Amino acid sequence: METAETTALELIVEKHRKALRRGFRIWPELSYGKPPALGDRRWTADLILSTWLQAETGELPRNGLEYRFGASGGGFDVLDFQFLPPGRWTPASVVIDTSIPLNRRPYDPRIDIPVPFYGAGMSYGSVSERIMLARAMAAKAWNTFTSTGEGGYPPSLAAHKEHVITQIATGLFGVREETIQYARVVEFKYAQGAKPGLGGHLLGAKTTVAVAKMRESPPWVSLFSPFPFHSVYSVEDHRKHLDWVKTVNPDALVSVKVSTPTDVDMVAVGSYYAGAHILQIDGGYGGTGAAPEIAKKIIAMPIELAIPKVHRYLLGEGIRDEIVVLASGGIRTAYDIAKAVALGADGCVLGTVELVALGCTRCSNCERGRGCPFGLTTTDPELERLVDPEWGAWRLGNLYSSIQGQLRDILRRLGLRSIRELRGRTDLLVYRGNGARGG
Ligand code: SF4
Repeated sequence: METAETTALELIVEKHRKALRRGFRIWPELSYGKPPALGDRRWTADLILSTWLQAETGELPRNGLEYRFGASGGGFDVLDFQFLPPGRWTPASVVIDTSIPLNRRPYDPRIDIPVPFYGAGMSYGSVSERIMLARAMAAKAWNTFTSTGEGGYPPSLAAHKEHVITQIATGLFGVREETIQYARVVEFKYAQGAKPGLGGHLLGAKTTVAVAKMRESPPWVSLFSPFPFHSVYSVEDHRKHLDWVKTVNPDALVSVKVSTPTDVDMVAVGSYYAGAHILQIDGGYGGTGAAPEIAKKIIAMPIELAIPKVHRYLLGEGIRDEIVVLASGGIRTAYDIAKAVALGADGCVLGTVELVALGCTRCSNCERGRGCPFGLTTTDPELERLVDPEWGAWRLGNLYSSIQGQLRDILRRLGLRSIRELRGRTDLLVYRGNGARGG
């Protein structure tokens, strides 16, 4: 039955189509001086709209919107699956398993999550506390995780601490012993794919009194996290960091988030020997509007190349089944997740797609003025109120449900019974060719 929400969404879709008919174009470089209507080549208008629709309804669009591919002409957009004929699909009676473990070592706690993804670090300051709360509530409802990012741990999150990853980043903003002790997973952020080698940056206008208090800094000044950790220059230093966390919280799993330099395979092996349970390799397609375009496009290795490089190197070293590899950085769809797994990841970490589910239009105004006009990447007390955490958690839950359903459908059509069987199956992928635009 058609709901008021879907009707509203249909109106947005129609508005978008009218804008296109009036001569607005989706991509700035094709706009002939006119402003783009919505989206860009990676996050096309169709992908944004179909993500909104999934967040509203938990279902896929039935009006022809493209929900699988962007139009970047590269990366995941030129890869597709080679599905089996229907007679060879996994029977409908089989419940396809989408769970993954977060610890593959024979010791330390075993934590499984029912979906092959969790939420990426987004700091208090880069997003509002209400967004963090919405993400934590959704993580709890789905028995998965979300990460604090590097700006500290607002007390309101403590009610969901079983599902909140405490991040420790290079600026050590807001790092406290008690929030390391809260966590079942602690994440070291060495770098992020959207701005490798550049550290983090929070503009003074977003460093409100509350944000500054959490970060133990003066308010209204820009805050920089350096690159790299100035205490880590070797695998041994890396190990000392992990040992520090294990001393404070012996039961925590440790995740290491790195970008994708050309020697990312060496970084992966070093992280394993330092004791990491999870390696998160973060490619350059992600980031909010705050990340400089030149850094996103030029500095790091594309994630679709980094994943198989890491997977194969760990296999060759005989340690692939002792460390969990998660891919992040611009994972937009269930199809992107499945492709990352087929390339060799165990699962993914989702960032921007969660903001899109909450209403992000990809306008790139995250770091301008009072921040996001939709109340997402802002610390302005008035704008923040635009998002109700319960509403946000409900939308994220709908998105997760839709993604899980699509993953099951993909696996069924590949004749597989679990997401774990897909890992490293590059033979199931086909190249769609340059200029592929979905459909
Ligand atoms: S809608 Fe908000 S979160 Fe999305 S890009 Fe624009 S300012 Fe950033």
